[in-house]
Amino acid sequence: METPNKTFDVIIIGGSYSGLAAALALGRALMNVLIIDGAEPCNKQTPHSHNFLTQDGKKPAEIHKQGKEQVLMYNTVEFLEGVAVAGRKMDDGTFEIQVSKGEIFRAGQLIFATGIKDDLSGIPGLAECWGISVIHCPYCHGYEVRNEPTGILSNGPEAIEIAGLISNWTKDLTILTNGEHTFSEEEELKLKKHDIKIDERTIAKLKHDNGYLSSVTFQDGSELSLKAIYYRPTFVQHCQIPQALGCELTEEGYIKVDSTQATSIKGIFACGDNVTRMRAVANAVFMGTMAGVAASRQLILDRFSE
Ligand SMILES: Cc1cc2nc3c(=O)[nH]c(=O)nc-3n(C[C@H](O)[C@H](O)[C@H](O)COP(=O)(O)OP(=O)(O)OC[C@H]3O[C@@H](n4cnc5c(N)ncnc54)[C@H](O)[C@@H]3O)c2cc1C
Repeated sequence: METPNKTFDVIIIGGSYSGLAAALALGRALMNVLIIDGAEPCNKQTPHSHNFLTQDGKKPAEIHKQGKEQVLMYNTVEFLEGVAVAGRKMDDGTFEIQVSKGEIFRAGQLIFATGIKDDLSGIPGLAECWGISVIHCPYCHGYEVRNEPTGILSNGPEAIEIAGLISNWTKDLTILTNGEHTFSEEEELKLKKHDIKIDERTIAKLKHDNGYLSSVTFQDGSELSLKAIYYRPTFVQHCQIPQALGCELTEEGYIKVDSTQATSIKGIFACGDNVTRMRAVANAVFMGTMAGVAASRQLILDRFSE
């Protein structure tokens, strides 16, 4: 990489809920901060976000706009729209980040608030319905589809776990195994006891109107009317730079962090969906705040003992 365009105390990669929360703590700690954001939050298609106190029912973009406005009130915080494409650790322990337009920035610490990328391929209509009627979490969206005919696109122990939880929100539940089910006899009996149906037909597509599901069409041409489907997609990290810098991942594919959001590499923190299965705006904000506090605290105390 070449000479950096500018040096900061901390660079935050990812400027959604978690990244902005980190920036707020850092701005209030008088730190020079650059936020680099690709503007691709995972919930961008969701009409309304729920279960975050003071913001319940708001459009995700509105929450982001309000957060960004508050953070940019702190004049040591800068926001750059762009994608970080490479990073490297310098001999003096600082880090360089290159963005897609070619600029290079340097900082003593990095915070990755980069989220994850859900794999919504495979079934036509799944991506279009994601966050609207194909949902990941009952606490975020279950209330809106309570008592409605609902599917669970899953199989085996995961399907049992999801079905047990969702049976609180609706009794009209069908597990769509999209092929042969893998339940044990005991699991089948449990589902039967709770009137939860198993449907093994192979799915051809989801029929919907602007993301609002009306039915599932199967390969044999038959249909099942449903209002919502719970789905836990597989994912990859949205940004590969943490791994390239040596940050360890968990077995599930999340960035490994301690209780202060510090990764396995000194000076690098991670927060939000890239470190946890507990996907919620409130949780992302909490972890961002913690990362911002921990990163600034480390810098302040390092400077104090110089
Ligand atoms: C469909 C859906 C609906 C949801 N609904 C709710 C809800 O109702 N209530 C609730 O509490 N939670 C909800 N969630 C969960 C919530 O949206 C997430 O927990 C939250 O968005 C995580 O915030 P984050 O900042 O970690 O990641 P994200 O919001 O996903 O943002 C990550 C940001 O990092 C940027 N980024 C990634 N890589 C780079 C890079 N290399 N360079 C620059 N920028 C980069 C992305 O462009 C993006 O802007 C929902 C999630 C989904 C998927």
